[in-house]
Amino acid sequence: MKVKSQLSTLTAYSPGLTSEQVKRKYGLTEIVKLASNENPYGSSPLVRQAIADIDHFAIYPEGRALHIRRAVADHLGVDENQLIFSSGLDELIQMISRALLEKGTNIVTAAQTFPQYRHHAVIEDAQIREVPLKNGVYDLDTMAKQIDAETKIVWICNPNNPTGTYVNSTEVEKFLQSVPSHVLVVMDEAYYEYVTAADYPETIPLLNKYNNLFVLRTFSKAYGLASLRIGYGVGATSFIKQLEVVRLPFNTSTLAQTAALAALEDQQFVEKSVKKNAMERQKYIDFCTRHKLSYYPSQGNFIFINIPSKDPMKVSQYLLENGLIVRPFSNGIRITVGTKDENNKLRNVLKNKVLIST
Ligand code: PMP
Repeated sequence: MKVKSQLSTLTAYSPGLTSEQVKRKYGLTEIVKLASNENPYGSSPLVRQAIADIDHFAIYPEGRALHIRRAVADHLGVDENQLIFSSGLDELIQMISRALLEKGTNIVTAAQTFPQYRHHAVIEDAQIREVPLKNGVYDLDTMAKQIDAETKIVWICNPNNPTGTYVNSTEVEKFLQSVPSHVLVVMDEAYYEYVTAADYPETIPLLNKYNNLFVLRTFSKAYGLASLRIGYGVGATSFIKQLEVVRLPFNTSTLAQTAALAALEDQQFVEKSVKKNAMERQKYIDFCTRHKLSYYPSQGNFIFINIPSKDPMKVSQYLLENGLIVRPFSNGIRITVGTKDENNKLRNVLKNKVLIST
């Protein structure tokens, strides 16, 4: 079998070890997983109730996700036809790439960001223009200079995964004004709910002004529904109509649609999760400051600690052997902000490795 030649440059996504695998491998009884930016408080109790009532498993789901569509449209104050639903944002990133990219086209994004933008551009044989982060933040001025007639998509992860940093409303508006209308500007706002910065851009109202703006949101993070796979995009109705062509029939399950509807109705659960996250996130910042560790100021439910000289792979291995799963990068480790107890445990073990040993 001969697949597209560019596939040989990629590897299949690896989610890392599961808690069960780590337990078995290292003979541990308790594992704290702070690697995938999930909600440590679970999801709203209303979700469990809502899905318990589902009994029509033999019937295909509502293909256009009508109920959750109406609820999200109301929640955001947009038209229902401005929305497209997907099996998590991973699928939406694939759909957008599939619809827009081919050989000869290019994407512009940051060098250290969510890897799926690049992954799908490679599969579609498009060129990738990656601009280094500037002090850990998306450098929109330099990215604007990379755009040409063949640029199809600019991906902006805001807040950025893995750094947690954000571009503010002034920077985003300035950028949107400079981008030609043939380029789709995608704002990936997977961590939108967690943001506490006052100058973070509210992009939904900007959709009326910029026809080429597209916003991504998910139920996987603050809503705590990562296992059910549901997210959505908001954009111009004309573009959504074209994108619908590449969407698979029944791409979001009845369980996911029903759970998302219940989760959306429980804003109190989201507010509580966000508040606790902000408090716990601050404790990591205090810890880094106290121990003179370099970190990026995060607006998400995770924090990136820069430890290039400490060999982040070794540090994460040490944490793993102590029952703590984090995500290593070449220049540091990304830690999901967990519950109070989980974070205390992580910081205690991290202190031994990073501060005491070499
Ligand atoms: N975008 C970003 C920035 C993410 O961090 C993630 C999940 N890690 C996704 C998209 C995909 O999320 P999901 O498919 O669960 O909606």
